[in-house]
Amino acid sequence: MGQIINGKEVALKVKEDIKNFINNRKENNLKTPKIASILVGNDGGSIYYMASQEKVSLSLGAGFVKVILPETLTDEDVIAEIHKLNEDDNVQGIILQLPLPNNFDEKKIIREISPSKDIDCLTFESQGKLYMGEPKFLPCTPNSVITLIKSLNIDIAGKNVVVLGRSNIVGKPVAQLLLNENATVTICHSKTKNLKDVCTAADILVVAIGRPKFIDKTYVNEHAIVIDVGTSSFEGKITGDVDFDKVIDNCKFLTPVPGGVGALTTTLLIKNACEALKDNEY
Ligand code: NAP
Repeated sequence: MGQIINGKEVALKVKEDIKNFINNRKENNLKTPKIASILVGNDGGSIYYMASQEKVSLSLGAGFVKVILPETLTDEDVIAEIHKLNEDDNVQGIILQLPLPNNFDEKKIIREISPSKDIDCLTFESQGKLYMGEPKFLPCTPNSVITLIKSLNIDIAGKNVVVLGRSNIVGKPVAQLLLNENATVTICHSKTKNLKDVCTAADILVVAIGRPKFIDKTYVNEHAIVIDVGTSSFEGKITGDVDFDKVIDNCKFLTPVPGGVGALTTTLLIKNACEALKDNEY
């Protein structure tokens, strides 16, 4: 029987460090981190993530401000709000909830976030630095994947890692972070041939495809570490890309959904805001 990697437990340690950092600053009458989260329209997933970000931020002592904008606005209106936050010395981190409604030009708007406040690593500058191996902020979901693997105290260098999914927000940056750790990385996608053969050869399998329960025991080997990034709504429940019940007995470690990758992501976002605060002081 494989072991469960508990994202909530790993998050506790990071949360403790953040609380200590913020309390220490409060005691010394220093500025504490504040995050601004922009929601355009009323996407259900975005409303859920924003509420969760607010709850975790406030519980750790960080400030949180919600900027809720109607979808009847223009690109320029949203950009004007971003500019205001870029110039606000009391805001260290800006989150733009994605996806934006279809009538907005997402790429054009993202470009306007100041890279020094881009705690979600969305801008060209942040992504460019990541791919040059000099990231300012680590993107939160990919960082959560790496942090969970590292929590097992294994040496990632030289491991054969397969990343299933090649999106700009998950698959590609996960692969890059693993490459930075000297893993041998294979990226798979919907056109990959012999997918099962590639996946079963992996020491570490990271799955981010958004297909609930797609990965069953025929895709893993008994020594594999399996990280499930998927969060799809399936039969009324948040469900991962891995069929947990069928895989847990046939691998070495597996992250659950919920309680795995997602349980750590928001905490890492607030950690980035603390880093932004430190960086902007020097
Ligand atoms: P995405 O943009 O839809 O990308 C999906 C990727 O999976 C694509 O590269 C696609 O290949 C590949 N794919 C789809 N079906 C496949 C199949 N049958 N075989 C092989 N590859 C396949 O999704 P995303 O934004 O990366 O998100 C992936 C999942 O992670 C979603 O469930 C999302 O909700 C979740 N997520 C979770 C967190 C968290 O914090 N836990 C954060 C972000 C996202 P092609 O490129 O060839 O189309």
